[in-house]
Amino acid sequence: MQQLQNYINGELISPLSSEWIDNFDPSKGEVYSQIPRSKKEDVELAFEAAKKAFPAWSNTTLEERSKVLLNIASLLQQKLVDFAKAESKDNGKPLALALNIDIPRAVSNFKFYAHALTQFGSEAHESVGKNTINFTLRKPIGVVGCISPWNLPLYLFSWKIAPALAAGNCVIAKPSEITPMTAYLLSEVCIEAGLPNGVLNIVHGLGNEVGQAIVEHPQIKAISFTGGTKTGEHLARTASPMFKKLSLELGGKNPNLIFADCDYDEMLKTTVRSSFANQGQICLCGSRIFVEASIYEKFKDDFITETKKLQVGVPSKASSDLGAVVSKAHMEKVLSYINNAEKQEAKILTGGKRITVKDHEKGYYLEPTIIEVSSNRCQLNQEEIFGPVVTIMPFKNEEEALELANDVHYGLSATVWTSNLDRAMRLSNTLEAGIVWVNTWLNRDLRTPFGGIKDSGVGREGGFEALRFFTEPKNVCIQYNARS
Ligand code: NAD
Repeated sequence: MQQLQNYINGELISPLSSEWIDNFDPSKGEVYSQIPRSKKEDVELAFEAAKKAFPAWSNTTLEERSKVLLNIASLLQQKLVDFAKAESKDNGKPLALALNIDIPRAVSNFKFYAHALTQFGSEAHESVGKNTINFTLRKPIGVVGCISPWNLPLYLFSWKIAPALAAGNCVIAKPSEITPMTAYLLSEVCIEAGLPNGVLNIVHGLGNEVGQAIVEHPQIKAISFTGGTKTGEHLARTASPMFKKLSLELGGKNPNLIFADCDYDEMLKTTVRSSFANQGQICLCGSRIFVEASIYEKFKDDFITETKKLQVGVPSKASSDLGAVVSKAHMEKVLSYINNAEKQEAKILTGGKRITVKDHEKGYYLEPTIIEVSSNRCQLNQEEIFGPVVTIMPFKNEEEALELANDVHYGLSATVWTSNLDRAMRLSNTLEAGIVWVNTWLNRDLRTPFGGIKDSGVGREGGFEALRFFTEPKNVCIQYNARS
């Protein structure tokens, strides 16, 4: 059975403990590889390599740094199909999604930051009449930690690593132990691309062991984390007293507000996608759907009809709209929410069950599920389920729609469907979310700030925001003599 390796100091090596963790193919429910169960000692090894590499890497010219990142992007592009197959197998997502979204986006992340680093500047402030000028240097932090989740494995892993490296840092990165494969393949690509030894180190293992060791390391001064809100809270408790820089991209429970004046067909098509893409395992999925009362019954019927057309099946098949959810434990968690629905005066309109797929009987397949809720205060609407489950509920007017949308601890994204520009503007201003989409969903421009408010996180990724996070501003104030 294949054993993945850590990538430390430019080499692929086994964990010091020689302990391994089973890695599952969720489409079959079977172990198909093993990953290193790394510990504190492996993090220390990675840290020493990164620390040694930092002086040279942080002093490479922008052109050189950009060239290495472009090499990585171009090799990823060449190996796109292999990476997509690996991602789909490791995560359970449809191969088409990995081919069209996940891996192309990872390529874009490296390309984007290869270019962005050459355009990144800082401010100068001239104090006119005082013969003083202030300018700000943006220094790389040193060795930084990047920790990512399982839902969009390489997409989110590279979204952190690329800007961290572009800004001149050396990185210790930990992918999710549930989806480690493409991070491992990326190690091979980095070696081929000529990334100097120790600049990027990828350490595999459990969150509470190797992840915790990264967060606790006294000399790793910045942590960029994407994952669950509870983990983020725990991480902040560890890192904050050590005065580390923290970027936390956490959970969401995003409202999808549908007004009667919207482009109905476009809304319906996109709402099916924003509900069930990637088996609903995208932090940006619109899992709470609120519909204006006058079109509620029509929407309900049409949405059920369209959802029933979705094919759940083996991820590698072109006909599969949904693949498997990521793990047995996650499937059971999602099912427990569904099974609790009736206790919350909620009604399952379609779906709600595990599916057995021929020749893949042990795989973790779930029906796309729509639940009608009678209150936004129920557990189904207040907690992140992170599976192919959405709730629907009517609203009377814009005021009530806004109130329902904001009545939640999370604040990652929101979607509004309306043709009324004034309403779109009013809601864009007042919705409590880091990202608002109007008449679209998951429409991304990598230059824009990405992140959430409330319990959905702290800080922003994307564009120059990430380069600002991964650098420390140092202001220099010079007083000069005006007379020669
Ligand atoms: P998770 O919090 O369980 O794990 C995320 C990562 O943190 C994994 O690599 C894990 O090993 C690591 N980890 C766990 N405990 C740790 C610890 N004590 N110290 C350091 N690292 C630790 O999340 P998950 O289940 O992998 O991912 C799903 C969650 O991620 C959902 O809540 C989803 O909304 C969120 N998410 C958020 C965004 C966003 O941009 N806001 C994007 C994708 C996913």
